[in-house]
Amino acid sequence: MRRVVIAGGGTAGWMAAAAIARTMGRVADVTLIESDSIGTVGVGESTIPPLITFNRLLNIDEAQFMRATQATFKLGILFDGWKNGGDRYFHSFGLTGKDHWSAGFQHFWLYARQKGYEQPYDDYCLELTAALRGRFAHLPGEATSYAYQLDSGLYAKFLRSMAEGDGTRRVEGKIAQVELDGTRGDIAALLLESGERIEGDLFIDCTGFRALLIEGALHAGFDDWTHYLPCDAAIAIQTENIGAPRPYTRAMAHDAGWQWRIPLQHRTGNGLVYCSRYLDRDAALARLLGNLEGRTLVQPNFIRFTTGARRKQWHRNCVAIGLSGGFMEPLESTSIHLIQRAVLRLIRMFPLQGVSLRDVAEFNEQQFTDMLQIRDFLILHYKATERGDSPFWRQCRDMAIPESLAQKIELFRETGRVFRKNEELFAENSWVQVMMGQGIMPRAHHPIAEKLRDDELNKLLRTLRDNVARTVAGMPEHGAYVAQYCGAPRLQTA
Ligand code: FAD
Repeated sequence: MRRVVIAGGGTAGWMAAAAIARTMGRVADVTLIESDSIGTVGVGESTIPPLITFNRLLNIDEAQFMRATQATFKLGILFDGWKNGGDRYFHSFGLTGKDHWSAGFQHFWLYARQKGYEQPYDDYCLELTAALRGRFAHLPGEATSYAYQLDSGLYAKFLRSMAEGDGTRRVEGKIAQVELDGTRGDIAALLLESGERIEGDLFIDCTGFRALLIEGALHAGFDDWTHYLPCDAAIAIQTENIGAPRPYTRAMAHDAGWQWRIPLQHRTGNGLVYCSRYLDRDAALARLLGNLEGRTLVQPNFIRFTTGARRKQWHRNCVAIGLSGGFMEPLESTSIHLIQRAVLRLIRMFPLQGVSLRDVAEFNEQQFTDMLQIRDFLILHYKATERGDSPFWRQCRDMAIPESLAQKIELFRETGRVFRKNEELFAENSWVQVMMGQGIMPRAHHPIAEKLRDDELNKLLRTLRDNVARTVAGMPEHGAYVAQYCGAPRLQTA
């Protein structure tokens, strides 16, 4: 199966093209079809740390990539108003304190708290402290865990030039029809409005929410998860930067959803995610416009979506990657990551000798497991709330949740323990920060903490906290670091 045809040229299409052309370029011919008149979804600007691995696998120079995409560094997400409306907490990358092999750091902190120590849990996390002080630096030994905030349009352009440099053929045009092989039912070719016919062996559906191939032609089926994640609409808008870009994304809860703020070098990305049952489009727009920091630069982009996953993300000779494979709201910036996982997974199972049904089953199971685990983590933000100030929050607070999440929450509440299963994306620190941030405090700690005498416990905590404070104090201001490391033209001349 040498002829790979990618339908769609958003972030998903170009990530797939760039990765396949660079890794499999000698054995696979890649053609990508996209339509300028349809365009892309135009959002997707906040990422998580594994993107660094993707870039390294493709030999992408970090500074060059950041300059090309007007990117800034991201150390985590600041959540405003999720617990009770007036609170705030931070979900950072990296680790907090120091774990013992038998018990995470939270157990030591909980024990100390019981003994009257008052320092917040946050003070023991380097990334969190640096983020809130507006600082950033690459530290020796890759000690900073970070991701990027980037311009999605520029990212697709950047990947495109890479993919074309590695031999990908780009075809501009609108796909009018998907032609099936009459005997097998596989996809045989894509017919464009221009009359051109593009044949292939393996088709990658990156047509976004349209899912033209995987659903339109192959009817792979869709699991609707709106009952767990009720937001179904968003409005995105870009504004001028006010001040230096912050090294974190903000997620500000409102009474029918939440608002994002993503600072880039040249502008800020903003958006309102909401549940259309409780907020209409005009009110949502007014709310977004009323809570922006800078002058708007573009017209608002209205987006509707259904939360859920394609039942078979690989079906016959077609693999759905990106929004065509499913979507969960961007609260934890997980969609680009799911694209990355699907692309790398497909390369690992590349069906050069023909599609193996075992590979297909394995791919689908792994991709679906990733999505279910992310789904649980997202639901946590809505379910674990004390908010009852609007019908939206009452619905979230009272909804039934998956048993897997209920077990995780109750285990943490009873014992302070979190376990990571099946290469789950979110590690213990993420769960602990979000659960405690949302108000779930464990009733117990692991007894290993009590092995420490008071003076030992005191010394451990003080050393960890001092290390964080000292390291952060030595870090430069984030905006200055970005300008010097990867300043895009406008920033350098500013
Ligand atoms: P699209 O960008 O929609 O691209 C589809 C492509 O298919 C386009 O090139 C289009 O022209 C082409 N196409 C469609 N039909 C045809 C046709 N008939 N003929 C030819 N071409 C066709 N993800 C994150 O990781 N972080 C975030 O912060 C984040 N924020 C988001 C906010 C919102 C409100 C939404 C909805 C999504 C967000 N995402 C985020 C998800 C992220 O935007 C997507 O995962 C990512 O952009 C990939 O989109 P895509 O390439 O699958 O689809």
